[in-house]
Amino acid sequence: LLEAVGVTKRFGDDTVLDHVNLTVNKGDIVCLLGPSGAGKTTLLRCLNHLEKPNSGAVFLDDELLGYRRVGDSLMELPPRLIARQRQRIGMVFQSFNLFPHMSALENVIEAPTRIARVPKAEAVAYARELLDSVGLLHKADSMPHELSGGQQQRVAIARALAMRPEVVLFDEPTSALDPEFVGEVLQVMQKLAEQGTTMVIVTHEIGFAREVSARAVFMEKGRILEEGTVESLTDSPRHERTRDFFAKVL
Ligand code: ATP
Repeated sequence: LLEAVGVTKRFGDDTVLDHVNLTVNKGDIVCLLGPSGAGKTTLLRCLNHLEKPNSGAVFLDDELLGYRRVGDSLMELPPRLIARQRQRIGMVFQSFNLFPHMSALENVIEAPTRIARVPKAEAVAYARELLDSVGLLHKADSMPHELSGGQQQRVAIARALAMRPEVVLFDEPTSALDPEFVGEVLQVMQKLAEQGTTMVIVTHEIGFAREVSARAVFMEKGRILEEGTVESLTDSPRHERTRDFFAKVL
């Protein structure tokens, strides 16, 4: 469904991603793990064309994401076509990023009505269903500042799902939350996992990754050092660096 092939990303002289290959199939739950600065967030952003690789490519099914091939080189697609591809990829950010001047419901119907031109009544009906599934139907008319961090993040998840994406990318969705609100967000994500949602998650929540039987990918210094089940990485890592990391975080 989504595939990074030889993705390299530099910021100035820093190589933040170094020939990264990652395949995400339909139904996969992939957790990107690793120390701060390893490039996890940058990889996630490349998977959504929020960052453009310096070399390598990302494929959405067999389409190039963000580009078309012209002879030997790549030309960026017009914004309208990029937007169409990106509709297939949902994103949940660390800091929620809700529109502050819109209610929870308005946040959820914004993209479907404005971008996908779904009729308002239909968008509202689906948004109410999504808000219900994240346990927040009773807050549909609340403004973001009236919601707790955990509630805002659950609205952000509903908003990401509103475009019926084929894969949802989560960038450390619980790391900006007070500890008391982490559980409710993980519970919503667990439910999505049980429903077979394809997800790529940058997280430090190893327990969660284990519970949803995620495929774990361990990154360090812009490279994927190893991948496997969460248990295989935590209990019998092949690399010393993987062992050191889990020894510290577990
Ligand atoms: P964390 O868990 O701390 O978010 P990470 O593994 O997600 O870490 P990234 O956020 O991808 O790591 O960052 C990798 C490196 O790239 C870091 O050294 C960071 O400072 C650098 N970096 C990220 N974004 C930019 C940017 N827009 N401009 C310059 N450097 C950047």
